[in-house]
Amino acid sequence: MTDRSVLSDFKPGDHDHEACVAVALDTASTVCRERGVRLTPLRRRVLELVWRRHVPSGAYDLLGALRSDGRRADPPTVYRALDFLVENGFVHRLESLNAYVGCGGPGRAHNGQFLICDSCGRVAELEDHAISEIIREKADALGFHAGWQTVEVIGLCGECLGRV
Ligand SMILES: [Zn+2]
Ligand SMILES: [Zn+2]
Ligand SMILES: [Zn+2]
Repeated sequence: MTDRSVLSDFKPGDHDHEACVAVALDTASTVCRERGVRLTPLRRRVLELVWRRHVPSGAYDLLGALRSDGRRADPPTVYRALDFLVENGFVHRLESLNAYVGCGGPGRAHNGQFLICDSCGRVAELEDHAISEIIREKADALGFHAGWQTVEVIGLCGECLGRV
C-alpha cells in the first residue's frame, strides 16, 4: 500500500522526469483556467524552470535561466512570477534554502513537510496531517495559535546513504 501522505518521494535518477514536468505544467494550466487566473508565458516558463530538477532553485538561478532564454528579466519579474506560483500552490518556498521547489500535490495551498538531502539537494514532500496536528496541539498547549506550517528536515536521502 502506498502512503498517501507522500506527495513526492526521492525520485531515482532514471525516472521519467519529462512526465513529471508535463504533469506539473498541465495541472497548472487546468487549475489556472478553473480559477480564471492567467498562467502567462513567463509564469509558465518559471514553473518549468523550477521543475527542471527535484532540487530547489534559487531566484537568481531562475533569473539566469530566463536571461539565457533571451528574456529581459529583472529580479522583481522573477519574484512576482514566483509569488504567483507559490500563492496558487504550484511551488513551495523552502526557507532554509531560500529556494523554490515544485509542489508534489499542486493546486491548493497546504501544510507540508519537506525532507531535504544535504548531499544531492533533492527534496521529498509529505503532507501528513498527523504531523501538522501534533504541532498544532503542542502550540495550543502554549496558548499559541498555529497558522501556516512548513517543516523542513535536513538529512541524507537513501541513495546518498547507499541504501537504495
Ligand atoms: Zn521528475
Ligand atoms: Zn505541495
Ligand atoms: Zn541525496
